[in-house]
Amino acid sequence: MAEYRTIDYRCPYCGHTYSVRMYDVIDADTEPDLKERCRSGDIFHVSCPHCRREYMIQYPLLYIDRGLRFALLVSEKETAPLSRLGRPLAEQGYRLRRCTSLQEFTEKIAVFEDDMDDIMVELAKYDTFIEYVDNRKGTPEDITSIEYQRTENEVMKINVRADDKSMSFLIPVSMMQEEMDASPDLYRVREEDFPVVDSAWVISLFAPEDGTA
Ligand SMILES: [Zn+2]
Repeated sequence: MAEYRTIDYRCPYCGHTYSVRMYDVIDADTEPDLKERCRSGDIFHVSCPHCRREYMIQYPLLYIDRGLRFALLVSEKETAPLSRLGRPLAEQGYRLRRCTSLQEFTEKIAVFEDDMDDIMVELAKYDTFIEYVDNRKGTPEDITSIEYQRTENEVMKINVRADDKSMSFLIPVSMMQEEMDASPDLYRVREEDFPVVDSAWVISLFAPEDGTA
C-alpha cells in the first residue's frame, strides 16, 4: 500500500498555492503505476495549475521493493536513526540505502532491478573516472556525470558525460568482483543504517585517514 499526504504547496515561481500529493511510502509490488513513476523519476514531478510551470520537488520518500528485497529512502539529509525500521529488513536480507538525489534514486532502482551490487557499480564508476582522466580523454572538470546504464551478459555499461560528448565504458563484472574480493572488509556497509553509497562514499574509502585528500 502507498501512504501519502496531501499538502498545500506554494509555487516558487508564481507564489500561488496548490495541492500536491506527497508519498511517504511506496510499495513497488502492490503499486505498479507508482513503481513506474519512481523508476522514471516522475514521482517528484509537479505542474503548477496557476502558472503551468513544471518542475521537480524532492521530499523524503521510502520506496520498498519486497520482491527484490531492497528499500530506498530518498532524503537529502540524514534523518532520525533508522535502525528500528532498518534492522528487521536487514535481517531479512534487504539492501537498504539512502539516496541524496533524485538521479541517485532512479539509478539505484535500475542497479537493484538488474540484480547488481550497487557497491560494485560505484567502484566501477570510480575506476571509469580514473581511466577517463588517466588516458587524457578529458579532465575531471569536463565531466558532468558518470552514470550506470545497464548490465548485460555480465558486462556493465557505464557512461561518462562531458560537456558536449558522452562516452561508454564496458566493464566485465568478473573484473570488478576480483577487485572487491581483494579487500572484502573495505566495501562492507551496515544495511540497517540506510547508508549512502555514492561517489563521495567510494572516494572516502581511498582517502587518507586524516581526511586531507
Ligand atoms: Zn506557479
